[in-house]
Amino acid sequence: MDFDHANTLLMGNYARRPICMQRGEGTRLFDDTGREYLDLFAGFGGAVLGHCHPDLVRAVREQSETLWTVGNTFHTEPQLRVAEHLKSKAFDGRAFFCHGGLDANETAVKLARRRGSAKGRYKVVTFNQSFHGRSLAMIAAGSTEAHRVGFGPPVPGFVHATGGDFDDLVRHVDDETCSIMFEPLRGEGGMLGYPDDFPAQVRDFCTERDITLHFDEVWVGGGRTGKWFGHQHFDGDVKPDVMTLGKAVGGGLPVGICWAEPEHAEHLVPGTHGSTLGGNPMCMAVCATIFDVIERDGLLDHATRLGDLAKAKLRDALPDCDVRGDGLFLGIELPADPTKDLVAAGLEAGVVMNVTQKNVVRLAPAMVISEDDWARGLDLVIDVIHA
Ligand code: PLP
Repeated sequence: MDFDHANTLLMGNYARRPICMQRGEGTRLFDDTGREYLDLFAGFGGAVLGHCHPDLVRAVREQSETLWTVGNTFHTEPQLRVAEHLKSKAFDGRAFFCHGGLDANETAVKLARRRGSAKGRYKVVTFNQSFHGRSLAMIAAGSTEAHRVGFGPPVPGFVHATGGDFDDLVRHVDDETCSIMFEPLRGEGGMLGYPDDFPAQVRDFCTERDITLHFDEVWVGGGRTGKWFGHQHFDGDVKPDVMTLGKAVGGGLPVGICWAEPEHAEHLVPGTHGSTLGGNPMCMAVCATIFDVIERDGLLDHATRLGDLAKAKLRDALPDCDVRGDGLFLGIELPADPTKDLVAAGLEAGVVMNVTQKNVVRLAPAMVISEDDWARGLDLVIDVIHA
């Protein structure tokens, strides 16, 4: 590919590498020169079952020959298949379908604001080191000041507290707070969790104050952590009122889901929110099939086992680094900012990985990765970090 030409046709908001990916097969990618890469980041987490998984290819083919889109003023079967999975695997709720993480989060914020509006509540508390998407509201929700620069006055009503510090959280809540929104594991923020007792404290506090508890599960929902949803790792059977999903639940297609407990969901009535193509049969057929395949093939246990093996191996090989995360969503925090571009070095070595917050290497391979490929990929990552 002529990359100079490509750059005259595409907006410059992504720092694209001079590589044109042409084909994918499971956890392998091939560029247009035929070079092979082991994909340990699965399209920023979207390709949870890898590239061209036969069951997903079949789901797309069958659905594409049956019904494309009808709009959401009709019922379609694939949406129900997805909702049944969520109900049985998460908690009793109702679904709103859209295109990705940010619009699932927008939906959840609208839901919480509408529910709180009778009491004059509209503020949403989020955390430091958080990321919730790139819309105008979600750059106000996220903690990164740089994401707001040049985009005019930030959408009002978002307040940032320190994740994991319950007293600080309480200080940021007032009579106008409608929601507390946080990622069970702050992925973009550097793979940061919380003290063990924190989620249950927040749950109780939200229940007492009648504040919506919203978990942004865009990174950790869908199985890759070894449990269906990130909050299922928390102590004390903590459940949110509203959960948002993206990335993995589309398997690489654009799917976002806002899943809300019935009493919360009922605040979105006709005319309050919508999406023309959200929940279209093709995306929903793929989404439902992802849940079927993970269940059928025991991939939650596979992710847990490979994650545990990886943590032991990485801690042994990289004693100066802090290794964290669950299942097949791992972060390796380096003791200092690297002096070279680790992602480029990885690509040179034939492995796709990611770096966030300058010094946290992230791995999120497809859940179908074999033990051999995982071991080989980890060796490559360790070599790149050592070099
Ligand atoms: N929420 C979290 C936690 C994310 O990590 C992301 C994207 O990385 C988003 C929301 C936004 O998702 P999308 O890019 O699908 O809009």
